[in-house]
Amino acid sequence: MTTRIGIIICGRYQGCGGGKCFRALRERRGAFAIYPPEEPVEIVGYSTCGGCPGGNVEYVPEEMKRNGADVIHLATGLVVGYPPCPSIRQFKSFIESAFGLPVVVGTHPIPQKYLDRHENLLFWQEQNMLELIQPLLDEAPEIKAAYN
Ligand code: SF4
Repeated sequence: MTTRIGIIICGRYQGCGGGKCFRALRERRGAFAIYPPEEPVEIVGYSTCGGCPGGNVEYVPEEMKRNGADVIHLATGLVVGYPPCPSIRQFKSFIESAFGLPVVVGTHPIPQKYLDRHENLLFWQEQNMLELIQPLLDEAPEIKAAYN
């Protein structure tokens, strides 16, 4: 059965071409490692949060759902942009509650150079970010480096 995915990226990177996300989906890396390679996936929506404070999150998941989305991914850029998005948990709980769609935090692996910069940030410790993004962290260092 095909898993249909909607991706919401951080509005600060609205010009992003999506290269790392689409590559990671093809390679089943990062947060996409939860989908077995032999199982088909389809992107049914790709949008930004609309810019701080993320007003599009109130609307785009519904459109993605109408287009068949089974799951919403919040792009890795929300986690490793600086500053990290302060609303990741709110976005996740809102989308899950309002639209009944599960939310996965992350898309492509965390580039190693960003991980090196971010993992000591107080924000990450205060927000228990490590538990939220475990699948992104599980990638081998050489894979993270390949996404630098
Ligand atoms: S930091 Fe969060 S709310 Fe602001 S643009 Fe990025 S994803 Fe949207």
